[in-house]
Amino acid sequence: SRSHLSKKQAASVEFRNVTKRYGNVTAVDSVSFTIEPGQLVTLLGPSGCGKTTTLRMIAGLEMASEGQILIGGRDVTNLSAADRDVSMVFQSYALFPHMSVLENVAYGPIVQGVPKKDAYEMAMEKLSLIGLKGLEKRAPSELSGGQQQRVAVARALVLEPQVLLFDEPLSNLDAKLRRRVREDIRELQQSLNLTVAYVTHDQEEALAVSDRIIVMSNARIAQTGTPRELYEEPASLFVADFIGDANIIAGDIASVSGAMARVQVGPLSLDLPHRDAGSGAVKLAVRPDAILLDEAAGTLAGTVRKASYLGAQVEYEVESPIGNLFVVQYGRKEPIAPGTPVSISFASQRGVAVIPEA
Ligand code: ATP
Repeated sequence: SRSHLSKKQAASVEFRNVTKRYGNVTAVDSVSFTIEPGQLVTLLGPSGCGKTTTLRMIAGLEMASEGQILIGGRDVTNLSAADRDVSMVFQSYALFPHMSVLENVAYGPIVQGVPKKDAYEMAMEKLSLIGLKGLEKRAPSELSGGQQQRVAVARALVLEPQVLLFDEPLSNLDAKLRRRVREDIRELQQSLNLTVAYVTHDQEEALAVSDRIIVMSNARIAQTGTPRELYEEPASLFVADFIGDANIIAGDIASVSGAMARVQVGPLSLDLPHRDAGSGAVKLAVRPDAILLDEAAGTLAGTVRKASYLGAQVEYEVESPIGNLFVVQYGRKEPIAPGTPVSISFASQRGVAVIPEA
């Protein structure tokens, strides 16, 4: 019956004050967020912050201790995994070694009672979609790591779930393949308009694939935003430090005018957007590429201590009255030699975030 192949609408995922406790460990602490239909949202954070537990609660593999979980507006808090219309791609792929690729992918529909012939047809459709046509008779052990990963994705897609979950899907692949597979996942997600929740601890991966990122720390959400918002406007030192590199520089609020603050940093006066900087001491999180070095004299003088030529970019360590700075300059410029005096300025407001003192 063709109805198994019918296309479903992407669904939203909503957490309302969801808590998960294991004995006296609170793995997830009153977390709320929404994943819009067709978005790829990454749960990012250090080991133990609660991201896997959050993902498993979307799947129904763990039950919430408190709060509400909605998928496509439907309350699924107390539904089992089988009743949630969600599929997960596991870190280990979890393929059945004694079954062929085709049997692995057709397994889900067959268990659900779809006639074998139809299940194989559904499986073949997903295998060709994902570029594995011709390999369907092989055993998983006869495939490369990247191909096994694709089989796992095909298997998760075969029932056309409303939501697709990925738990560190690239961790078993080498660095080069990781990049390609993450691009494949993103392309697939966009072309099929899938709602995806994706767990990783790799900030670069998160920046590359996500519509939005939920940064977690100690069982709570530290910040949610687009990759660009998180990189350019981190709300805390934790996020500034976890995503990309940041120079943390001390500053003082001189005045505030609406959304803009005038911040004194050593001899420099900067007009910067802020959230709730208040008055007095603040920290600035300054991205290495937001700092400009000039060999002509300027207001803030420094000295280049180290220059590393890396082809597309040059990385500098610069000694200055406002602290030692890590500076990255892109483009085919002649590197500035160590020992050279430079003047330091800030390229723009982008990449210079005002963070209130905690
Ligand atoms: P990692 O990147 O290391 O997988 P994570 O961010 O995914 O970390 P979780 O696996 O969600 O973190 O774990 C969050 C916290 O809950 C940790 O302190 C962990 O030890 C604890 N925890 C997770 N699962 C269980 C369990 N089944 N029983 C007891 N404690 C658990």
